[in-house]
Amino acid sequence: MTSSPFIIRLSGLKEGQHEFKFKVEPSFFEQNKFIDEVSGKLNLKVLLDKKLNLATLDFEFDGTLILLCDRCNSEMNYPLNYTDKLYIKFGHESYENTDEVIVLHDGDHEMDITSYIYEFIQLAIPMKKVHQEGDCDEEVINKLKEFQLNKEKENKQDSTNIDPRWEALNKLKSK
Ligand SMILES: [Zn+2]
Repeated sequence: MTSSPFIIRLSGLKEGQHEFKFKVEPSFFEQNKFIDEVSGKLNLKVLLDKKLNLATLDFEFDGTLILLCDRCNSEMNYPLNYTDKLYIKFGHESYENTDEVIVLHDGDHEMDITSYIYEFIQLAIPMKKVHQEGDCDEEVINKLKEFQLNKEKENKQDSTNIDPRWEALNKLKSK
């Protein structure tokens, strides 16, 4: 038995549609390390359509992700509404798992969907994460600008002062 809260029991399921509901809480994001810093609260509805030898699982995420803004690096709420699909085949020993099709053998009576939840949320995170116009943390933006300006000044100074080691090397070369 597994202690995962994201289990779908398949044994004894009749053919037809079945609905499963889960809650993805901030603890899920803490336990599963995402590529970017992300948290949130989502409702997940899984609609399972069981046929004789296969099943389709429709995932429907609905809620809010908390992402870090690319511009000001402070938290932003991102309303999420994302759907995706999985296919399951039952009992075909010769089939290999692929990205879309999962093969469950006769002995598999339950399925832990944690890794698929992770994968789908990862897919749902937008490439560009920026606050709406005017919502950015201006204090941070100003600090970043200041930092950038100082950096530019430093770079200018660097290029006017020639490193004495290079000078020595140049002298050697010209001999
Ligand atoms: Zn921002």
